[in-house]
Amino acid sequence: MILEVSAVSKTYAGGIQALKDVTLTIPAGMFGLVGPNGAGKSTLMRSIATLQEINSGTISFNGLDVMKNRMAVREQLGYLPQDFGLYPTVSAWTLLNYFAALKGITGRSERHRTVEGLLKRTNLWDVRKRKLKTYSGGMRQRFGIAQALLGDPKLIIVDEPTAGLDPEERNRFLNLLSEIGGQVVVILSTHIVVDVSDLCSNMAIIANGEVRMTGSPREELRKLDGRIWVKSVERHELDVYGQRFSILSTHLREGRPHIRIFAGQRPDESFEPAAPELDDVYFRYLRN
Ligand code: ADP
Repeated sequence: MILEVSAVSKTYAGGIQALKDVTLTIPAGMFGLVGPNGAGKSTLMRSIATLQEINSGTISFNGLDVMKNRMAVREQLGYLPQDFGLYPTVSAWTLLNYFAALKGITGRSERHRTVEGLLKRTNLWDVRKRKLKTYSGGMRQRFGIAQALLGDPKLIIVDEPTAGLDPEERNRFLNLLSEIGGQVVVILSTHIVVDVSDLCSNMAIIANGEVRMTGSPREELRKLDGRIWVKSVERHELDVYGQRFSILSTHLREGRPHIRIFAGQRPDESFEPAAPELDDVYFRYLRN
């Protein structure tokens, strides 16, 4: 299983260049695509999902040209879009049966078995008869995954799935995603970097339509070992530190700014060493 994105560019009518010469190799397993809002993540996800044209470049899945074989790709695709619209007055049971029929699972007992399995897997079995408008954000996203998993897809795309979820729902959702993993390609697009550190064996950082890095989170963290330093400073000193050091991020701790910097060695005794986090990797590539 492999998804290959080669030199893909996309300019919208109006002139916004959302993707600039994007090249990515995405193997089986969980792949994290991170970047700030407006980076081009959804544009890339929609293009891979065959829902949108690109201007140049190619996308292939297991050697199959995605743009030239839309139907064949769609049969292997599970997609949870960012704005997953629901029919508010139907139940999860009814809607998932309907989606299953659309996916070609037409035999009644097979369909019921499939739908039951997915609703149990996403922990929605007990609430299957409730109207979808009564669902919480987390329940809706889990329903979104249930529909994306219909028909045993080989390529699964989830676009910003944890935005707006509370910590418990988010955790539950990420656990569910981690169970898919394995032999299929799963692309998780997000602006929440920790989602990726918890789940993904490979990742890319994209900003302004360009790939800033692609590799393994673990490897990238290792490169920062011994190079992240923290210090609590006064608010009025921030500018001075900003000029002297490469500040990756500033957090407030008990109301005081706490800076994290990247430096080959400890600048002075006032800085404490810190274990690298994926946020450090992210900010470092975004600044370059
Ligand atoms: P992300 O998902 O990373 O937030 P998007 O792919 O949604 O990024 O957007 C990338 C850029 O393309 C943004 O500047 C956005 O405003 C623009 N864009 C997205 N969709 C459209 C569209 N349908 N028409 C015109 N511009 C768009």
